[in-house]
Amino acid sequence: MTGLNKKSIEDIEVGGKRVLVRCDFNVPISGGVISDDKRIVESLPTIKYLLSKGAKVVLCSHLGRPKGEFNMKYSLAPVATRLSELLGIPVAMAKDVIGEDAQAKAAALKDGEVLLIENVRFHAEEEKNDKTFAKALASLAEIYVNDAFGTAHRAHASTAGVAEFLPAVCGYLIQKEISIMGGALENPKRPFTAILGGAKVSDKIGVIKSLLDKVDILVIGGGMAYTFVKALGGNVGDSICEHDKFDLAKELVYKAITKGVRIMLPIDTVVADQFAADAKASLTPTYSIPEGLQGMDIGPNTIEIFSNAIKSSATVIWNGPMGVFEFENFAKGTEAIAKAVAESGAVSIIGGGDSAAAVEKLGFADKMTHISTGGGASLEFLEGLELPGIACLQDK
Ligand code: AMP
Repeated sequence: MTGLNKKSIEDIEVGGKRVLVRCDFNVPISGGVISDDKRIVESLPTIKYLLSKGAKVVLCSHLGRPKGEFNMKYSLAPVATRLSELLGIPVAMAKDVIGEDAQAKAAALKDGEVLLIENVRFHAEEEKNDKTFAKALASLAEIYVNDAFGTAHRAHASTAGVAEFLPAVCGYLIQKEISIMGGALENPKRPFTAILGGAKVSDKIGVIKSLLDKVDILVIGGGMAYTFVKALGGNVGDSICEHDKFDLAKELVYKAITKGVRIMLPIDTVVADQFAADAKASLTPTYSIPEGLQGMDIGPNTIEIFSNAIKSSATVIWNGPMGVFEFENFAKGTEAIAKAVAESGAVSIIGGGDSAAAVEKLGFADKMTHISTGGGASLEFLEGLELPGIACLQDK
C-alpha cells in the first residue's frame, strides 16, 4: 500500500462544513506546561487551510495513556491555549469528548471557528474502535480529516472507525508522508539505499523483507547487525544477539544475494566492557569481538564505507540508530550517518523514532527531504502494510 491515490482536504468542499480533524497533539506536558509544541506547530497548515475555506473546525487527539478514564492530568486544555496563541484566534475547549459540552460547542461553531474536544482516550471505546463511540464522534461533524500519521497504523475510533460514517480525506501531514514515502517506494530515484539499525532484527523482519524487493543497497548497523555477523560465522562476544534468528538472518542475506541487493554489514566495531555511558571503549573487527566485550557502535572504517554508499545514492531511507547513541561515547556512528545522509544530496527519508531524534539533535533536520512524524507507522508503511488510518480514506 502506498496510499498515493487518497483524497486530501483540497479534493473536497469544506466551506461552511463542520470538519472533524484527527490531529497528533500527543505533546509532552508537565504541570500544565507544554515543553515541546512541535506537533502543534506541524498541525497548523491543515487547520489554517480549513479555516481559510470557511470550515467549522472540530479538532481531536489523544494525549498520553489515561486508560479509558477522564483524568485531567491528560487534558488537552493546554493545547487549546497554545493553539490559540499560534493561530491568533480563540480556540474553544470542550469539557468532554462526545458529551453534551462537545455537542453544544460543535453545534454553536460559526464558519472559521475552532473547537478542541477532550482527549479521545478518556473513553476506553476509542482504542477498541467501538462503533457506537465512532458514530458519536462522527455526529460532531460532516467531514472527517485524518492528519495524525503517528497513529495511522492503529485502527481506533478516531483514526479509522469514524470514517465509516463520514466522507474521509487526509490533511497535509499525512498527504506529505504518503506522497514522499509512497513515491519513494513506488518509483525511487536509484541507487536506492535503506539503512536499518536499532536493537533487534526481530522488530524489523517485515521491513527488511519488503525493502529487499525494492532497494539496491541495504546497510545494516546497530545492535541488529551482530545477529547477522554471528549467523555468518563471526564471533560477537557479549554483543546483543538473537540466537533464534540466525536462520532468518541467513535467509535474508541469501535473498539479498539472489536479488542483486548489495547488503552491507559493519566491519569494525566500538566495543565496551559493560553497557554504560562511561564504559571503557576500544575498537575491534566486527567478526572477532572477544568474550567479555560488547558492540556499542560502528567503527571508523565502517562509518567511511557506509558514508560512501550513502553519498553514491539518489534515495536514502533510514530507520534505527547505528549504536547506543543515548551514550555520548557511542553516538559517533549514528551522528556520522546522519551527517552523510544530510550531505548526500539524495532524496532522504528519516523513519521517525530514534533516527529522527538524532537528526534533529544534530541540527540536520532541514537538510532532510522528509522526517516522518510516526516511528511505528512509518515502519509499517515501509513494510508495505495497510495502515487503517490511511486505508479508510476516500480514493481519488
Ligand atoms: P529500535 O527501537 O529497535 O530502533 O532500537 C533503538 C535502540 O537500539 C536504541 O535505544 C539503541 O540504544 C539501541 N541499540 C543500538 N545499537 C545497539 C547496540 N550495539 N547494543 C545495544 N543496543 C543498541
